[in-house]
Formats: sequence, structure tokens, C-alpha cells
Amino acid sequence: MSSSLIERIHLIQDSLPESVKLIAVSKKVSAAAVREAYAAGIRDFGESRIQEAESKIEQLQDLSGISWHFIGHLQSNKAKKALSSFQWLHSVDSLKLAQRLNLLAPELGVSPKICLQVKILPDSNKSGWTIQQLLDDLVELNLCQSLQIEGLMTIPPLGLDSSEVVDVFNRTRELIAEINERSLSNIKMKQLSMGMSQDYQLAIQSGATMVRLGTILFGERYL
Ligand SMILES: *Cc1c(COP(=O)(O)O)cnc(C)c1O
Repeated sequence: MSSSLIERIHLIQDSLPESVKLIAVSKKVSAAAVREAYAAGIRDFGESRIQEAESKIEQLQDLSGISWHFIGHLQSNKAKKALSSFQWLHSVDSLKLAQRLNLLAPELGVSPKICLQVKILPDSNKSGWTIQQLLDDLVELNLCQSLQIEGLMTIPPLGLDSSEVVDVFNRTRELIAEINERSLSNIKMKQLSMGMSQDYQLAIQSGATMVRLGTILFGERYL
């Protein structure tokens, strides 16, 4: 990767359809590199660890208009911190966590945008709802009126070939349609958070509205 960060950002930004939001995954990347990405036009950043993110957000307070997206596994004892720092939570992975966020959000005066994380295929390395569990929990989730439940997030298991990856992405898109057909008052999904450096082009073909890119922008993160 010999091009600069700014060149890579512009190349990728220009290649994305307008309907797709680029989230630059800045975990393990310095605040200085985030600043550079901001100068290149990025306004959405993804972080997967609360503590690391808090320190970066603090150092970047002077930059206006940033949305911070939490994309890691959220432990319930960090829920308050996550709500204080992040406008988006992509990785809400259980009814219990959703209910806790729903209780805390009004106390903190926030109304977070949420994606529910689903596992389309079994994957012991990841958390998230199975399809059936999610369908079973929808009525309870619909009662979480302090959350803006915007869509689904998924990460395919490692080791799939590209047609299997596409199947996972397509199934996630279909699941959103099935959920919306239930006409629940607080669950009208429109966001599909899927696609990382290795597979974001496939994800976009399957209807992704948000791609989460780290390595392809920031390199191997030794910045
Ligand atoms: C790290 C991470 C990404 C970015 O992955 P790359 O392969 O570096 O693009 C995207 N989503 C999640 C949930 C991640 O943890």
C-alpha cells in the first residue's frame, strides 16, 4: 500500500454508491490518523473498545460533525459509557442488552441509533441473534421505545467462499424485509451494516447501506 491515507479514502469514497455510508474503522489507529481521515472528508468512525475510543474522542473534541459508531461486543457494565460516547451502536446482540440500553438512554438524555447483530450462520466466535431468536424477540424489542432501531448488522463467519458470503448478505437483506412486514411501530428497518475490507464490494451488491472499513483505509494499523 504505497498511496497515502487521503488518496485511499478518496479512491474508495468515489467508488461507493451514494446510498452507502463509509464508516472508517479507527480501532488501533492513532487520533492523529483519525484527524487525517477527517481532513479527507470522513465523518463516521467505528471503534470496538470503549476505553480506547473514549480517549480518542476526547482528543478529537475540536472536530465538529463526527458520528461515532460502536462496532464491538458491548459488555453491559459499559453500556452507559457507550451511550455517552457513541451515536450509533451496530453490535447490539441480545434482548437483555437492548433492554438495558433502553432504560439508560432516557437517563442520559440520548436516543441512540441501533443495529441488531445477527448470525445468519452458526459462528461460535461471534455474538448476535440467530434468525429465529431475533424473530422471537421482536415484540419485546418493539417495546424499547428509547432506541431508534435502524437495521441489522452482520459479519459472515471466517472461511466462506464468496458465493457463501453473498448468501449471508442476501439473507440478511431478506430478513429486514421479513421484519418490516410485521409492521411493528418502533421497528422500521432501513440500514444494513455489512461489509469489511475483504468483502465490502459483495456486501454493496447485496444492498449494504453502511460498510465498515479498517485495513483497506488505514493499512495494517501500525500508524
Ligand atoms: C475491525 C472491524 C471492521 C474492519 O475490518 P477490516 O477488515 O479491517 O476492514 C469492521 N467491522 C467490525 C465489527 C470490526 O471489528
